[in-house]
Amino acid sequence: MSEASELDEIAREIRSCTKCRLHMNRTNAVPGEGNPKAEVMFIGEAPGENEDLHGRPFVGAAGKVLTEAIENFLGLKRSEVFITNVVKCRPPNNRDPQDDEILACSPYLDRQIQTIKPKVIVTLGRHSTRYILEKIGKQFRSILAERGKPIKADLGYGEVTILPTLHPAAGLYNPNIRKYFEEDFRTLARLLGREKDKDKRPSIFDFLNGPRARGKESNSNVLK
Ligand code: URA
Ligand code: SF4
Repeated sequence: MSEASELDEIAREIRSCTKCRLHMNRTNAVPGEGNPKAEVMFIGEAPGENEDLHGRPFVGAAGKVLTEAIENFLGLKRSEVFITNVVKCRPPNNRDPQDDEILACSPYLDRQIQTIKPKVIVTLGRHSTRYILEKIGKQFRSILAERGKPIKADLGYGEVTILPTLHPAAGLYNPNIRKYFEEDFRTLARLLGREKDKDKRPSIFDFLNGPRARGKESNSNVLK
C-alpha cells in the first residue's frame, strides 16, 4: 500500500474509534495531516476547540505560531511536513490527556510514524516528548531540560532524530518561551539542512561575496 493510502486507512479508523472516553465529546477526531513522505513530523498534545470543530490539527492560535515557524524558519509549507498529536480527540475543557487515553491512542501515532518514516520528529511540549523519549528508553525529566537537544534514535525503520521543543501555545504570551521555541526551530533548520544564510556561520566565501551573502538583507521573521 502507498504511504498515502495507509495514512488514509489510519485516519478512517481514528474517525470511528471508541477505544477511550474521549470519543464521547468529540465533534471531529483529528488524525493529522500533511505530506505522506514528510522528512519532518510534528507531534503535539491533543486537539483543542478549533481542531475539534474542523477535524484538523493546529488550526487555532497555537497553530498560527507553529505554521509561521515552519514557513519562516524552515522555508516549508505546512503541506510539506506532517502534523499530528499524541491523542486524536479533544479532552474536555482542554485538560491534559490522561495516561490511559495516551495508551489507547498511541498505536495510531506509532503507525503514522512507521508509515511516514520521518528523518526528524519534533515533539511539541511535555506530553509528546515524554511519550517518544520513553519509547526510546530515555527518562523524561522536564520539557525545559529536554528541549533543543537532538537525540538520534532507532524506531525500527532507520535512524531518526528526535528534537523536543516547547508547545507553541506556551510561547503565545511569554516572549522568553518564544525565544526558546525559535532557537529550537533554528536547530531544526540545521538538522534539515535548511538554515537561512543569516543563521549560518560565516565562511571566507561570504566575505568575498559581500554583505548580501552574509545575510544582512535577509528577511526578519514575523515571530519577532
Ligand atoms: N494544541 C495541540 O497540542 N494540538 C493541536 O492540534 C492544537 C493545539
Ligand atoms: Fe480513539 Fe484516540 Fe479518540 Fe481515544 S482519543 S477515542 S483512542 S482516536
